[in-house]
Amino acid sequence: MTEEAREYDIVVVGGGGAGLMAAYAAAMNGASVIVLEKGAELGGTTALSVGTLTATGTRLQREADITDNADAHFEDMAKIAGSRAERDNLKLRRLLVDNACETVDILEKLGIVFTGPLPEPPHRVPRMHAIIPHSKGFIRQLEKAARNKHAVMRTGANAQRLITEDGRVTGVELAGGERIMVRRAVILASGDFSAADHAYKSKYMTGPLLDIAGVNPLSTGDGQRMGEAVGGEVINGDLAWGPEIRFLAPPRLSIISKLPTWRGLAKLILLAMKILPGAVMRPFLLGFVTTFLAPSHSLFDKGAILVNSSGDRFCDERDRPQDHIGSQEGKVAWIIFGAEVADQFRSYPNFISTAPGVGYADLTDYEKTRPDVVHKAANVEALAESIGVPSNALAGSVDAFHASRTAGDDRAAMMKPPFYALGPVQSWIVFSEGGLKVDENLRVLHRDGGPIPGLYAAGSAGQGGVLLEGHGHHLGWAFTSGRLAGANAVRDGV
Ligand SMILES: Cc1cc2nc3c(=O)[nH]c(=O)nc-3n(C[C@H](O)[C@H](O)[C@H](O)COP(=O)(O)OP(=O)(O)OC[C@H]3O[C@@H](n4cnc5c(N)ncnc54)[C@H](O)[C@@H]3O)c2cc1C
Repeated sequence: MTEEAREYDIVVVGGGGAGLMAAYAAAMNGASVIVLEKGAELGGTTALSVGTLTATGTRLQREADITDNADAHFEDMAKIAGSRAERDNLKLRRLLVDNACETVDILEKLGIVFTGPLPEPPHRVPRMHAIIPHSKGFIRQLEKAARNKHAVMRTGANAQRLITEDGRVTGVELAGGERIMVRRAVILASGDFSAADHAYKSKYMTGPLLDIAGVNPLSTGDGQRMGEAVGGEVINGDLAWGPEIRFLAPPRLSIISKLPTWRGLAKLILLAMKILPGAVMRPFLLGFVTTFLAPSHSLFDKGAILVNSSGDRFCDERDRPQDHIGSQEGKVAWIIFGAEVADQFRSYPNFISTAPGVGYADLTDYEKTRPDVVHKAANVEALAESIGVPSNALAGSVDAFHASRTAGDDRAAMMKPPFYALGPVQSWIVFSEGGLKVDENLRVLHRDGGPIPGLYAAGSAGQGGVLLEGHGHHLGWAFTSGRLAGANAVRDGV
């Protein structure tokens, strides 16, 4: 199939983890495939992720002598979902736990290197696999593998509408009107709707979620909309990971994070992690962090305050501050504290954020690897100048905080220099959970019942009501559902 062809066996909408895995699986099964990606490059939220993937029975679990199985994983996922568990789609949860191991095997065969498995209670045993060196490795290796099987990748291709004939999906129309026709099936793998406009979000969401941005601005729910327009429906549209306070991603990628994701280099890093002292490896591993990290709320429990760009406090920091940042000017805030808090956050069990590779990053780690979000000054006035807020307002906020502390308050006062500001921070929807209703074959279901001929969905666009709480299940779902959708669409999508 040449790049000019306008008809393919399989059209995949979205070049993130689910879409690239679907393209690879479909091409492996002999189909001609095109991936349509609206961004300037492939990657999606998958490339922004921390890169953990939770699975059982993997090579790494076996090498660590961990006895585990999919049934145990299935049960533990209910524990993580807690009170929401009754909303789960158990058939899709089953599909995930039964197939995630093969997904990890395939990713490893394609050259992706994992470390782990890492513990994450209430999982009864360690199951979390973390990519080395970083999540762009998923994209690079999957793209390479799919291209090797002649899948065509087209970036800047914004799919807008599904073309149907007698109720069957026969193609995709791009913004600008170009049509790409399909012989077997379209697979919607266009991510979540955390960055959709207010009107679309308010179909499903309420409250502070409506006023805050999604981490990935391209996650505008296009697949959900296109699926709905041909009779599909969105399940669990009200659920999202967020609002969550996060630092902005680093303004410039570090040299380390630009290192290639070759298997050989990844293995070398893995070896170095095993043999070199932590103090040597920490700055190196943190240099890979290209993503938005979430500051620990224990900073607020210990005495840090939040101020907006006017230098004013705007909420009780210990009562869901994440719900209030979206309504501040510029939707940004800074975390302010003195040496009393700073000294506590230089070693575990206190930490500024979790971080890939090292587990937990403390204030010293941030000073070394994220100087763009650490401001330090000898007095409150100089700190105000450093972050660009009015100094009298910031001083007033600190005084008001002291006045509000009650006897026996656990929070430290802010008297001792140096003074710190971490930020700016923003409140984000990290991702939304609402995806098209699908069956166990990843076929999109019509709201009146039965599959829509010629239409599959995977990843966040095809989340189908499965709850993916905890860490590593979203990527697990993206790659597993993409893989199965790609293979099923070739087998059955006629
Ligand atoms: C900061 C962060 C950290 C995370 N860390 C983890 C983690 O460690 N482990 C984990 O399990 N999960 C993690 N997640 C969640 C996980 O990354 C996502 O759930 C997963 O990557 C979704 O994959 P996807 O392929 O469905 O979507 P995406 O990776 O977002 O891919 C969708 C693609 O479709 C494209 N697209 C959208 N609309 C169109 C259109 N109209 N036409 C063409 N293309 C379109 C988008 O540009 C995008 O490239 C994290 C998320 C974030 C934001």
